[in-house]
Amino acid sequence: MKITDIKTLSVPHGIKNMFIVIVETDTGLYGLGEGGLSTRDLAMKGAVEHYRQWLIGRDPMKRDALWQEMYRSQYFEGGRALTAAISAIDMALYDIAGKALNVPVYELLGGKHRDFVDCFVTAGASSGPQLIERCQHLLDSGWSTIRVTAADHGPGRDDPTGPGLYEPRQSIPLTAQWITDLRQAVGLAPVLGVEYHHRLSVAEAASFCQRMPSGTLDFLEEPIRDETPEAYETLRTMTDVPFAIGEEFASKWQWLPYIERGITNFARIDVCNVGGLTEAKKVAGWAEAHYINLMPHNPLGPICTAATIQLAAAVPNHFSLEVWPNAEGKVFEMPELFTVQPQLEGTRFVVSDRPGLGVELNPDYVEQPFCWPEFPHLHRRDGSHQNW
Ligand SMILES: [Mg+2]
Repeated sequence: MKITDIKTLSVPHGIKNMFIVIVETDTGLYGLGEGGLSTRDLAMKGAVEHYRQWLIGRDPMKRDALWQEMYRSQYFEGGRALTAAISAIDMALYDIAGKALNVPVYELLGGKHRDFVDCFVTAGASSGPQLIERCQHLLDSGWSTIRVTAADHGPGRDDPTGPGLYEPRQSIPLTAQWITDLRQAVGLAPVLGVEYHHRLSVAEAASFCQRMPSGTLDFLEEPIRDETPEAYETLRTMTDVPFAIGEEFASKWQWLPYIERGITNFARIDVCNVGGLTEAKKVAGWAEAHYINLMPHNPLGPICTAATIQLAAAVPNHFSLEVWPNAEGKVFEMPELFTVQPQLEGTRFVVSDRPGLGVELNPDYVEQPFCWPEFPHLHRRDGSHQNW
C-alpha cells in the first residue's frame, strides 16, 4: 500500500474551523485526521503540504517510523504548528491501518480496556444562582464530573459592558464564592473543577485557591501559562488543589517536567496537538507510571473525539473525556460532512468497533470558502493584553 495524496479541509465549526487531513492510498482506503492548532489553520495546512511532498509513495503502515521522520526531518524540529500537522497525519495513518487490517484502532494500541468512555461536561454558567441551578440539572441528568469556567470574562459572558474585558482580581472572589456555594449545594460526591484558561499569575492563582475551603475543588485547570514549569512548581507549593494541565503540549518532551516533577495530577492530553496517537500512547504510558489519569482535551470535531475515544479505550488510566453536548445532549450533528461519527449516549461514548477510527467523511460534501476565525483578544481595564 502506498500514500497517493494528502488533502486538507477547513470547515467552519462554532468559533473556529475544523482542520481535517485526508490521507489517500492506492488501495482506495483513506484515513482522516484533525489538527488542533485552532485559528491558525494555514500554518497547519502549510506544514501538511511540506510533508505531503515526500510522503506520497510511502507505506502508510509505517506509522511510528513516519512520525520520527516527520518530527525530525526539518532539523528545526518541534513546535505547535508542525506537531499539530503531524498529529493529523499520524491519526489518519492509524485510521488507514485499522481499515486495512479490518480492526478498530484500539486493537492497534494494545486492545480494549473498557467498553465505554466516561466524559465530563462544562457548566454553561460561571457564577450566580444560575451556576448552581445548571449544575444541579447536569447532576440530575447523570453527569458526575462538571467543570466550571472562571467567572467574568469577555462580552456576552459575565461582563457584557466592556468588549473583551477581563480582570483576574474581579474573577477570583466571584469564582471562589460561587464554587464554594456550589460544593455546599451539591455535596461531596460530584467531581468539580474550574478552568482558568491560563489567565492568572502565580500569586493570583494562589489567592484563588486560598479563598475556598480545602476539598472544594477536585481540579484546577491551567490557572497559569505553561511555558515555565518552574512557575507551576512554585504554585504547587502554595495550594493542595490538584492541577489539570497539558492541552497545549506538543510532544512528549513538553510533558516531561510536568509528569516527572509531579506538577500535574490530571493529563489534559490533546491527540490533535501532542503528535497524534503515536505520541499520545507514549505519554499515557508515562503518566501511568506516575499514577496520573488522562482527562483528554477535546474541543474540536468528530475526528478528534473518535481518535480520543480509541486512545481512552486502549489505556488503563483514562478518567474523563471533555465533551460539549448541545441542549438535547447531542454532539456533532453534521451529516452534511460526516456519514459516521461518535454519538454521545448520556454521559459516555460507547467505544466504536468499526475498522479504523470510527468516523467517515461524506463524499458529497462541498468545500466552503475559507473563513478567518480569531479567538477573542481580551484586555484589562488599563488596556493591556490578557489571555483569552
Ligand atoms: Mg482547558
